[in-house]
Amino acid sequence: MKAVQIDLTPEEYHQLDVVRRRAGAAPGEPLRITRRTLDCRRRNVVYHCTVEVGEGSLASLSSLSSLSSVSSGARRVLVVGAGPAGLFAALRCLQRGLKPVIVERGKPVEERKYDIARIAREKQVDADSNWCFGEGGAGTYSDGKLYTRSTKRGDVGEVLRTFVACGADPDIMLDAHAHIGTDRLSGIIANMRHAIEEHGGEYHFGTRMEDLLLKEGRAGGIVDQHGNRIEAEAVILATGHSARDIYELFARRGWLLKAKPFALGVRVEHPQELINEIQYHGKGYSPLLPPAAYSLTAQARGHGVFSFCMCPGGVIVPAATAGGQQVVNGMSNSRRNSPYANSGIAVTVDLNGELGIGSEELGSPLALLRFQQAVEQRMFHAAGDSIDAPTQRLEDFLHRRASSTLGQSGYMGQTVSAPLHELLPPFVVDCLAEGFRAFDRKMKGFISAEAQLLAVESRTSSPVRIPRDSETLQHPQLAGLYPCGEGAGYAGGIVSSALDGIRCAEAVSLRK
Ligand SMILES: Cc1cc2nc3c(=O)[nH]c(=O)nc-3n(C[C@H](O)[C@H](O)[C@H](O)COP(=O)(O)OP(=O)(O)OC[C@H]3O[C@@H](n4cnc5c(N)ncnc54)[C@H](O)[C@@H]3O)c2cc1C
Repeated sequence: MKAVQIDLTPEEYHQLDVVRRRAGAAPGEPLRITRRTLDCRRRNVVYHCTVEVGEGSLASLSSLSSLSSVSSGARRVLVVGAGPAGLFAALRCLQRGLKPVIVERGKPVEERKYDIARIAREKQVDADSNWCFGEGGAGTYSDGKLYTRSTKRGDVGEVLRTFVACGADPDIMLDAHAHIGTDRLSGIIANMRHAIEEHGGEYHFGTRMEDLLLKEGRAGGIVDQHGNRIEAEAVILATGHSARDIYELFARRGWLLKAKPFALGVRVEHPQELINEIQYHGKGYSPLLPPAAYSLTAQARGHGVFSFCMCPGGVIVPAATAGGQQVVNGMSNSRRNSPYANSGIAVTVDLNGELGIGSEELGSPLALLRFQQAVEQRMFHAAGDSIDAPTQRLEDFLHRRASSTLGQSGYMGQTVSAPLHELLPPFVVDCLAEGFRAFDRKMKGFISAEAQLLAVESRTSSPVRIPRDSETLQHPQLAGLYPCGEGAGYAGGIVSSALDGIRCAEAVSLRK
């Protein structure tokens, strides 16, 4: 078997005889494209492809077959949170002969979707079942983009193979920027549950961790909202970056926490057609090309400004996790067929005087969380105490004037005109303005009459870190507790959270 690198136009990509000829494969010889990256930097847009030719190239993808059923006396590991970190931790527990007991405050995916539909319809957020909370975590009703820069943190291929084994399109294995799509993710998460339960794992839905059970100073389980105790030998805490009650619990109990820099900004929305024309160099691009994406970064006044979770052909969703907050995020279906392109545009936020909070508060591990909460509340009030999205045209934002009219939007709710240049913290406004001008130099037309900004993109990553020992992965004060995933500040995104889940389960299995 040999691997060949070739470049193919979108038309050539879909013609097997051309791929075969260009890869030097003999007639009838097995062949498979194993990697594809779309390169639109030059006028002739091409796919850079890796093609495997010869016997062995059709090797089947590994599945969940390495899971074994746990024995009745297996060590119990409590996994708090059924997001990507928790689910992949549970799968690895099963592979290591440990019994995962998953505790999840929300509902199974099949029921969760009704609560999510209700958010836009009734403008009410259930604090246990929403865009972030419920089976599958924040990753379920997301774009399902599966790329990560954390390739050194574990075997990304294992995560992708598991998704495929649970029903994802095998194409995710070859795309450099693979995505699954919201419409497919819920079925995949349900299949993961079936695999976990079949092999002896246990789920407790509607069960919110309210406290940690300590036995002689070691974490030995949790106490839920009804006072029930669920015991285990170890606790993997994978509650995500929106579980503010968990951070409050740590602060109340005096357990070690640290403030962690995060990023805050807005979601920018353009017509997808406009982004296609910018990225594919004009109107005459191939109809075989997918809706175009972008990834942009700039430096402004000592801050990073960057595009984040860009969703081609996507929609914007109200992602608050409780009443009194306004938060936006983006997602798309597998076909990415909405007429809008949206992306978070965020500014890095660090602990310093720019935050406008007193020096005493600056010393608190929850200082950045409080800052994040205050902006979300301000946006909620600006929208008339509702989850309507405060919105401003990008040109008006740059001219620091309110928008007298708004354009169409893919927001799953209503948009309402609001002066974001007055509502966002001043340093965020200044950095965003510089960032947008820099982006427009890289992508001519990014600043356009149709572009508008929706607020607030505040849940980019956790503003708090729950520390852990770099070797044992246990909390420095609480043996047996494994802070895990995005909420603990050790991951960002679906794949890196899944990898961190695997790492934590490995660490538990190695513990004597
Ligand atoms: C709309 C949207 C789109 C996104 N799109 C993408 C994308 O395309 N690609 C990507 O890589 N990332 C995306 N993300 C981010 C991604 O979803 C997260 O990075 C990832 O889900 C984090 O995984 P996690 O397991 O650490 O935490 P989470 O997914 O947040 O899971 C935490 C789980 O813990 C549960 N929980 C919380 N508190 C408690 C408690 N006290 N007791 C019991 N259970 C609790 C929650 O209900 C939740 O199920 C998106 C996020 C959103 C909201």
